[in-house]
Amino acid sequence: MGTLMVRCPRTGADFPSGIETDRLSFELTPAFTATIRCPWCAEDHVWSKIDAWICEADGMTQPNAVSPPARPPAASRSLPSPAPRRSRRASG
Ligand SMILES: [Zn+2]
Repeated sequence: MGTLMVRCPRTGADFPSGIETDRLSFELTPAFTATIRCPWCAEDHVWSKIDAWICEADGMTQPNAVSPPARPPAASRSLPSPAPRRSRRASG
Protein backbone atom coordinates (compact mmCIF):
# COMPACT_ATOMS: atom_id res chain seq x y z
CA MET A 1 0.00 0.00 0.00
CA GLY A 2 1.03 3.54 -0.57
CA THR A 3 -0.21 7.03 -0.13
CA LEU A 4 -1.50 9.08 -3.00
CA MET A 5 0.63 12.18 -3.16
CA VAL A 6 -0.26 15.50 -4.69
CA ARG A 7 1.87 18.52 -5.42
CA CYS A 8 0.84 21.97 -4.51
CA PRO A 9 0.87 24.07 -7.68
CA ARG A 10 1.65 27.21 -5.69
CA THR A 11 4.51 26.09 -3.53
CA GLY A 12 5.57 23.02 -5.41
CA ALA A 13 5.57 21.06 -2.18
CA ASP A 14 4.28 17.53 -1.97
CA PHE A 15 1.65 16.42 0.45
CA PRO A 16 -0.38 13.28 0.95
CA SER A 17 -3.89 13.38 -0.35
CA GLY A 18 -5.06 11.13 2.42
CA ILE A 19 -5.98 8.41 -0.04
CA GLU A 20 -4.23 5.13 0.47
CA THR A 21 -3.99 2.76 -2.41
CA ASP A 22 -1.46 0.65 -4.16
CA ARG A 23 0.19 1.42 -7.42
CA LEU A 24 -1.67 -1.13 -9.44
CA SER A 25 -5.08 -0.08 -8.19
CA PHE A 26 -4.24 3.50 -8.90
CA GLU A 27 -3.16 2.71 -12.43
CA LEU A 28 -6.43 0.91 -13.00
CA THR A 29 -8.40 3.85 -11.71
CA PRO A 30 -9.94 5.85 -14.53
CA ALA A 31 -8.90 9.45 -14.83
CA PHE A 32 -10.57 11.71 -12.36
CA THR A 33 -10.49 15.23 -11.06
CA ALA A 34 -10.82 16.14 -7.43
CA THR A 35 -10.39 19.03 -5.09
CA ILE A 36 -8.17 18.91 -2.08
CA ARG A 37 -7.36 21.28 0.71
CA CYS A 38 -3.69 22.05 0.58
CA PRO A 39 -1.85 22.02 3.90
CA TRP A 40 0.79 24.39 2.55
CA CYS A 41 -1.23 27.30 1.31
CA ALA A 42 -4.57 26.40 2.87
CA GLU A 43 -6.34 26.61 -0.44
CA ASP A 44 -8.39 24.14 -2.37
CA HIS A 45 -6.49 22.77 -5.32
CA VAL A 46 -8.03 20.98 -8.20
CA TRP A 47 -5.97 17.96 -9.06
CA SER A 48 -6.40 15.03 -11.33
CA LYS A 49 -5.00 11.59 -11.63
CA ILE A 50 -2.06 12.66 -13.74
CA ASP A 51 -0.99 15.08 -11.02
CA ALA A 52 -0.82 12.42 -8.37
CA TRP A 53 1.53 9.58 -7.67
CA ILE A 54 1.90 6.79 -5.21
CA CYS A 55 4.39 7.12 -2.41
CA GLU A 56 5.06 3.67 -1.12
CA ALA A 57 7.25 4.60 1.80
CA ASP A 58 5.70 2.86 4.75
CA GLY A 59 8.10 4.14 7.31
CA MET A 60 8.44 0.56 8.39
CA THR A 61 10.83 -0.41 5.67
CA GLN A 62 13.32 -2.79 7.07
CA PRO A 63 16.68 -2.70 5.42
CA ASN A 64 17.38 -5.78 3.46
CA ALA A 65 20.75 -6.27 4.96
CA VAL A 66 21.91 -9.39 3.34
CA SER A 67 25.28 -9.94 4.84
CA PRO A 68 27.50 -12.18 2.83
CA PRO A 69 28.36 -15.49 4.42
CA ALA A 70 31.44 -15.43 6.52
CA ARG A 71 34.28 -16.43 4.34
CA PRO A 72 36.91 -18.76 5.70
CA PRO A 73 40.31 -17.18 5.97
CA ALA A 74 42.32 -17.58 2.87
CA ALA A 75 44.12 -20.82 3.30
CA SER A 76 47.78 -20.47 2.76
CA ARG A 77 48.58 -22.32 -0.36
CA SER A 78 50.64 -25.28 0.49
CA LEU A 79 53.60 -25.34 -1.73
CA PRO A 80 54.08 -28.50 -3.65
CA SER A 81 56.59 -30.65 -1.92
CA PRO A 82 59.82 -30.78 -3.81
CA ALA A 83 60.15 -33.83 -5.95
CA PRO A 84 62.42 -36.38 -4.43
CA ARG A 85 65.75 -36.14 -5.94
CA ARG A 86 66.53 -39.14 -7.97
CA SER A 87 69.92 -40.26 -7.21
CA ARG A 88 71.48 -41.15 -10.40
CA ARG A 89 73.45 -44.23 -10.11
CA ALA A 90 75.88 -44.78 -12.79
CA SER A 91 75.54 -48.28 -13.81
CA GLY A 92 78.16 -50.42 -15.12
ZN1 LIG B 1 -1.16 24.63 -2.15
